[in-house]
Amino acid sequence: MIRNERAETVLHNLSDGVVCFDRQGKIILFNRVATEIFGYSAADLVNNDITILFSKKNEPEACISVSSLISSDISNSSHIVQDLIGRRKDGGLCYMDLSVSELEVAGVSLFIGIIRDITERHRSEKELSLASKVFENMGEAIGVTDADNNYISINPAFTKITGYPPEEVIGKNPRFMSSGRHDDAFYERFWETLTTSGYWQGELWDRRKNGDEYPKWLSIVAVKDAQERIQNYIAVFSDISERKAADERINFMAHYDELTALPNRVLLHDRLLQAIIGAPRHKKKVAVLFLDLDRFKNINDTLGHSFGDLLLQSVAERLTACVRISDTVSRLGGDEFIVILHDLAETAHAGVAAQKIIDSLSDRFVIRDLELHTTASIGISIFPDDGMANEELISNADVAMYRAKEIGRNNYQFFAQAMNDRSYERLTMENKMRRALERNEFVLHYQPQVNSDTGQIIGAEALVRWRQQEIGLVSPGMFIPIAEESGLIVSIGEWVVREACRQNKEWQEEGFPPIPVAVNLSAVQFRQKNLTELVADALLQSGLESRWLELEITESGIMQNADAAVQTLHSLKLMGLKLSIDDFGTGYSSLSYLKTFPLDKLKIDQSFVRDITTNQDDAAIVGAIIGMAKSLKLRVIAEGVETIDHLNFLNSSGCFEIQGYYFSKPLPADQFGKLLQHGILKITTL
Ligand code: C2E
Ligand code: MG
Ligand code: MG
Repeated sequence: MIRNERAETVLHNLSDGVVCFDRQGKIILFNRVATEIFGYSAADLVNNDITILFSKKNEPEACISVSSLISSDISNSSHIVQDLIGRRKDGGLCYMDLSVSELEVAGVSLFIGIIRDITERHRSEKELSLASKVFENMGEAIGVTDADNNYISINPAFTKITGYPPEEVIGKNPRFMSSGRHDDAFYERFWETLTTSGYWQGELWDRRKNGDEYPKWLSIVAVKDAQERIQNYIAVFSDISERKAADERINFMAHYDELTALPNRVLLHDRLLQAIIGAPRHKKKVAVLFLDLDRFKNINDTLGHSFGDLLLQSVAERLTACVRISDTVSRLGGDEFIVILHDLAETAHAGVAAQKIIDSLSDRFVIRDLELHTTASIGISIFPDDGMANEELISNADVAMYRAKEIGRNNYQFFAQAMNDRSYERLTMENKMRRALERNEFVLHYQPQVNSDTGQIIGAEALVRWRQQEIGLVSPGMFIPIAEESGLIVSIGEWVVREACRQNKEWQEEGFPPIPVAVNLSAVQFRQKNLTELVADALLQSGLESRWLELEITESGIMQNADAAVQTLHSLKLMGLKLSIDDFGTGYSSLSYLKTFPLDKLKIDQSFVRDITTNQDDAAIVGAIIGMAKSLKLRVIAEGVETIDHLNFLNSSGCFEIQGYYFSKPLPADQFGKLLQHGILKITTL
């Protein structure tokens, strides 16, 4: 072994680490760099085992064997173990290459290992390979150009989006893909931003290899060297055609009617606003034509909705053909359309346009080889004469349209102020209700009737509501009186009976404990000759047993024609229904009559219950009603029970059937279903 000063100096100044060990792995000699790489002192290393310095590649915690450090190939006196994992004294790991040569010194085999720390190289290689994986796999396209803006590299997503493989792109200027949609000024601004700020981002239209134009979202960075000279441009882009199409679709749906592609209510309001802002400037007027097809429901009902839809599309086309391109034809929904005539020179012109529409629609329609005829009624309001704002103009045109219907359909009417009199208001309301029936705008809510002794739900009262567009739920007090006057209550009431039966049967089929559902009958319905047939049919159609249907009639409803009422009540009773008198105490029932009626139940009116604890008269009346019901062997239920005090008073007077907000407000069917699931309602301590 050479052990002189010069040799040692050389050894210690080598830039690689050197470790000399024997066949058993014992370290005999090493240099300074070796101690630095591994963090050991000279004393740590000498005579120690070489294997403490290295780990197995995939198991850094396990030592590598001496034999794998010494050549596996005995004949080869020098070999390199690559990518070895070195283990420092502090446990840290590092990557290294080890080159081992065998030497014979005085007949003894020695091994000299030259160690090169490649941790840095390893790390940058790893980073590079990661970067290249990102480049290859990124969903966004990447194109790198040189300082002259010619492509030098693209990734697979680039090819996927543009359709161009690398060989057709490399060396070319990106200009070859431009769509021609952007003018020179656009590209000037683009280059100015890119060169001054080193960055540009925005939307750009290019052309794919197949010729299709498409929008892309592009970000470009200019890469500069130390002297601030541009070396490369890196462009990253994604295809945003789908996103744009979706945006357009959403925008379309928000402003246009899906069926006819005409502007919808939202866009109509916008256009009308523009029209009434613009008209005065040109000293012009604006006309709003409210159009409703006559008897469209018949077509829908007899030929089916898809047929009705086709007719609406054809009507939309004809309407559009009747007016100028600058006018607006929109569909409000159902068979209602609104036409705005912009910049009208004279009011009379609106009448001409309306007549033109009526004539055009009166021509036959041929739909699926079927010939049909339809007519329309149109109401016209004029800005500024009949209103200054959208809502007023539309509502007045609507009123005029009802007038057109009223006087025989298939005509147009100009709005007249007199139409807003009460009688017209009523007429409008009636027509709205008629439409509401056609469009299923009525809904039933259900209020539980509870046995206050047990908390059990013993019944439900069905209460009608009108879900009016733009207004929301309208309570029956607002429309039942008009429905009764106009006779429409008969149709509404028929719907209520059928719907309540259907819903109750549905709850039973869902497995809830059966309860009777109570339906309110108005006096007008009660006078209808076919009431029993209607009820029988509702039961038959729904499959509900008659004992689960209860009818509520007011005293006045019966007393208006008491003799006929007795008969009707008997035939209903015979069918197996339950009958109760609603709002009991407010009418003028005579006890003698009451005895002759086949009743099951009296409902104490809420006006007595309200003040039951403060007003002695009311308390006395309630007590008397309960007593009377008992003597007539009728059940008795209190309505409008809102507080625990109401409940306590009623209980102490012997009334245990309770309906009122204390337990629950009337609920939509689905929420009532949830109550039924529990079956029992809370009773706070009495
Ligand atoms: P009604 O038959 O006496 O129904 C009870 C009314 O009292 C309901 O009002 C109900 O919501 C309300 N109510 C229930 N509990 C309480 C309470 O604790 N406090 C107060 N202040 N009110 C309570 P709604 O639903 O507005 O119905 C009003 C009336 O409209 C009904 O009085 C009934 O006469 C009539 N009605 C409702 N639905 C129909 C129907 O389908 N056909 C007919 N013909 N009339 C109906
Ligand atoms: Mg009632
Ligand atoms: Mg009542």
